[in-house]
Amino acid sequence: MRSVDVVIVGASLSGAAAAKRLVDAGLETIVIERKQLPRHKICSGILSPRGHRFLLENFGPLPPQVLHEPASCRGVTFHFPSMVSMPMDFFGGTTPHLHRKYSDHWAIRQSGAEIHDQTSFVGLQDHGDHLIVSARSRGEPVEYRARLVIGADGPSSLVTRALYPDYPQSIPWFFVCQKFHRIIECPLDPQYFHFWFHPGLGHYTWSHARDGRQIVGVGFKRGDNFARKHRNVVDYLADKHGVRLEPEDDDDEGCGENFGPSLINRYVFGKGNVLITGQAAGFLNMIGEGMSCALHSGAISGEAVVEARLRNRPVQEMYRRMIASEVRRTSDQWNPLKVAFDRPHEADFPAALMALSWRDRAKVMRDIWRFLVLYKEFKWGRQILRAALQRPVLGGYSMQRWL
Ligand SMILES: Cc1cc2nc3c(=O)[nH]c(=O)nc-3n(C[C@H](O)[C@H](O)[C@H](O)COP(=O)(O)OP(=O)(O)OC[C@H]3O[C@@H](n4cnc5c(N)ncnc54)[C@H](O)[C@@H]3O)c2cc1C
Repeated sequence: MRSVDVVIVGASLSGAAAAKRLVDAGLETIVIERKQLPRHKICSGILSPRGHRFLLENFGPLPPQVLHEPASCRGVTFHFPSMVSMPMDFFGGTTPHLHRKYSDHWAIRQSGAEIHDQTSFVGLQDHGDHLIVSARSRGEPVEYRARLVIGADGPSSLVTRALYPDYPQSIPWFFVCQKFHRIIECPLDPQYFHFWFHPGLGHYTWSHARDGRQIVGVGFKRGDNFARKHRNVVDYLADKHGVRLEPEDDDDEGCGENFGPSLINRYVFGKGNVLITGQAAGFLNMIGEGMSCALHSGAISGEAVVEARLRNRPVQEMYRRMIASEVRRTSDQWNPLKVAFDRPHEADFPAALMALSWRDRAKVMRDIWRFLVLYKEFKWGRQILRAALQRPVLGGYSMQRWL
């Protein structure tokens, strides 16, 4: 059995950021990844400026092969049923359009950690002074002995389930699926990620250009029919935006998403010697932007391990204290008071709104409200409001709500 300081589960961006901090501090770190690397990851790859800065500062200049075409993105365009469109540029200029298969592999290699791919986490036992991690590597059972484990294994995290078996039943699950189309004619600007606040289309509807094709994606609740939803969006884009696409190619894809915890400050940070980070912990920014908070939370989990050792403090205490800054950043993006009176996002929504005529502003506010009503059944409204009111009093969000 291999004995190490830390086992990280998941060779994605949060895992890479955690690994970087641990390796830099001289801790022996193994990253286990269930897929063969480089692995595919469903993602639009639109990196926020903060995510871009993190990659540059921690892993160095991005090699060109980690990018899709178009290689950069200017920002996001919101579209509304009243046919108002609001393009918003990222603060600080364009950002790279990441090809997750290669960018994640590059980042994890830059971390300097030892990587065991095709190795799936199965379970763990926490014995207080060490953990035993069970995994399957190329079909064979393997075990690791570690002082700590970091779960960086994404929304359907098995590490979280190992600690809290009932957790998946306690949150709503969404499905996001996308299809790829050859383009006949597309007036949507390829330099932007396009998002529709349209309750008739779905809970999350997007489109953007990638490598000569147009992606059309839609997010919905369990039980809805993807093919029907997708067809509806394609017809809408043709009818309202003049987008003419060839029939979809065969390589459609989708996955489950734990959208919700960051809206209502219900993060999962682990227990005992196990830390949960990245999207597994619930980090997801506005418009489903998850890479910047995955990178930052992952780095904080690694730093917390290092700090806990230096100060001889319990790692959970250290992690929870340190992660509060990332919770503030992420949950602020969903906080209506912050949205109204501050600039929590990385593109200027208030400025884009103010650039519209009074009439269009009113239409946009009405359309946003109608879109939010779609989410009424999840009963998040009061929880968001309570958190928003606590924010100025506590200077952050209550730690009592975290698992
Ligand atoms: C359709 C779609 C579009 C998106 N577009 C954007 C975007 O444009 N910009 C943006 O910032 N974010 C986007 N996101 C969100 C972003 O992809 C995630 O928030 C981000 O990748 C989370 O990173 P992570 O490191 O926490 O986990 P993940 O990227 O989910 O990685 C988890 C890793 O753990 C591995 N793993 C899982 N289970 C096990 C196991 N049992 N054993 C070993 N390894 C395991 C997985 O294979 C994976 O490599 C999008 C998401 C989706 C679904």
